[in-house]
Amino acid sequence: MNSIKYNFFLLNRFVFILYLFGLVSCESNSNHDVDLKSIKSSSSIDSYGFTSDAFQFSISHASQLNVFDSFFVNEGCYQIPGNPKADSLHAFFEELREGYFKKDEGVDYSVIRKEYHTFTHAMDVMVTTHALLESGGGVYLSDGERSSLVLAALGHDVLHTGVSNSFLIQVEHPYYHEMGGDSLQERRSAKYVLELLDKHKILVIADGMDDGQKKKIYNARNLIEQSILWTDITRHKEQLDQVSGISKHLISALSNFRENPKLIGLGAGKDDYESGINISNVLSSEDKALIGSFILHCADISNPGKEWKHCERWAGMVMNEFFSQGDLQKKLGLKPSMNCDRNTVSVPGCQVGFGDYVIRDLYKLLKLTIHDGGSYLLENFNTNQKKWQDLQNIESESGLPYTMKLFPPTRDGGWMGELRSGEN
Ligand SMILES: [Zn+2]
Repeated sequence: MNSIKYNFFLLNRFVFILYLFGLVSCESNSNHDVDLKSIKSSSSIDSYGFTSDAFQFSISHASQLNVFDSFFVNEGCYQIPGNPKADSLHAFFEELREGYFKKDEGVDYSVIRKEYHTFTHAMDVMVTTHALLESGGGVYLSDGERSSLVLAALGHDVLHTGVSNSFLIQVEHPYYHEMGGDSLQERRSAKYVLELLDKHKILVIADGMDDGQKKKIYNARNLIEQSILWTDITRHKEQLDQVSGISKHLISALSNFRENPKLIGLGAGKDDYESGINISNVLSSEDKALIGSFILHCADISNPGKEWKHCERWAGMVMNEFFSQGDLQKKLGLKPSMNCDRNTVSVPGCQVGFGDYVIRDLYKLLKLTIHDGGSYLLENFNTNQKKWQDLQNIESESGLPYTMKLFPPTRDGGWMGELRSGEN
């Protein structure tokens, strides 16, 4: 077995374990040309969905604010319990956004290329969470829970360092001493989002609120915290098991609200959501926190289920971020984490492994519970998986490594590195 084939073997066998060490893989493509004219000055929330290009709608600070306004300020937007003022929401947005641009002590950013965990990724996950709700998932949650989940999506990776939890533990970074080893960065993100909400008086209990209003705010904050914590990839299997456990209950509860007998047994769809079906009142808070967190987790690793050009582009960025961690580990005399050594890891092989061990079962369960959104991601995933497999075969047969498509987001989009020679 030559060294490339041996690495493929190792990857296929251990790629899932790799993710248990705190690395997230996704994918995407190369169309880095941005069309400024396509950015609408005041787009409606209805114009955002699975096919929206995050690199375009996050190209500038102004365009990002435009999306945020479409989601939380303009007519037809998500209604946050307590109805916070637009000024508070804008101040929250600005400070949350800044949290994605922070450089941390103890992480060498002359080596680390934080290309994936950027504000562009946060906005991509926010829009995809919205798309999953619109494609059926919204029937399981109340108005307030849906808006909180979309807000959580925007904040889910705030303060991310650009290195994995396992790296922070390996070097005994001060964050490890401060937070402990479990879901280290996810807990930092959740804590920060809740603190910012307090600071800007969003989702806080106010004088004169009745018990019903207080309960909505409590539920919303709980969902934000839980859903961000569940984005820890080491909890992936645990979540899959728990959602599988309640899936029959969700679908049978939904069937009681449907008039069309042909839909019995099918997960929630776009038609259910658009016809106003909502079963949030018959589900427990625990079940809703779980299904909401599942939606955010699916959105977080939705790149393999998007169009190939986006899938391949995101894959290049996440792998390069991992590889930069491997570079830093070598510089420090440490062993690179799995999938972080650019000299030995196959990018297509890694994506094939991630698809086989993580994505396929996740999207199947998504299709079972949210039929339309799950079908969309699963269909694209199957196409993309074949492409990665072909690229892996070419690599294996030629002995030449796949060339990554490295087109990071704009500076406003959150990319803080320097271009290297040969890059665009
Ligand atoms: Zn993320």
